[in-house]
Amino acid sequence: MHKQNLIWKIKLEDLILISTLNDFIFCPYSIYLHNVYAETDEDIYHAVPQTKGQAAHKGIDGKTSSTKKSDLLSLPVSSEELGVMGKIDIYRLTERWLIERKYQLKQIFRGQIYQLWAQYFCLCEMGYEVERISFYEISTNRMIPVDIPNNHNKSELYDLIRQFRQFNPNEAITVNPNKCAHCIYCSLCDKTQSDNVYT
Ligand code: SF4
Repeated sequence: MHKQNLIWKIKLEDLILISTLNDFIFCPYSIYLHNVYAETDEDIYHAVPQTKGQAAHKGIDGKTSSTKKSDLLSLPVSSEELGVMGKIDIYRLTERWLIERKYQLKQIFRGQIYQLWAQYFCLCEMGYEVERISFYEISTNRMIPVDIPNNHNKSELYDLIRQFRQFNPNEAITVNPNKCAHCIYCSLCDKTQSDNVYT
């Protein structure tokens, strides 16, 4: 893919939230449902795992998780080239180290890697030098290093973002009952009759 074809001129309100990339991979229709129900009470659809994940980020959003002056916490980032925006958890200035905290990481999903890559590219575009990227698992106090993305990885991320932009919620999707069973939008979703495990 030629780079020129990949650069979008996007208005701020059209930027994709980095945090939704993983949700899109889980099920593209969940993004549509999220947008439909975004204005409703969060308690309606948020279940235990997500709530725990949100709690893991409270310290960051409240800027209480680090006392080091060289740590940038909850830093808003964006990339015009990728057309994404979001917040990073921690950027350690002296070590040029980007860290994304998760409450629990029994396995790292591709979508979570995409999120970290997107944060990395945002920081680079904003002029920060990044030499290391990692997940930090809070429940085990474990740092999990991730390779710095290369050009091939960047093209892979572009492809995902292109699919995200082109997704039509009226198109048929492949419904995976196992995913629906763990989907916070299950009770609101018209694509399945099943209930999730949280009800
Ligand atoms: S319930 Fe199933 S089909 Fe509906 S959004 Fe969730 S994962 Fe997708």
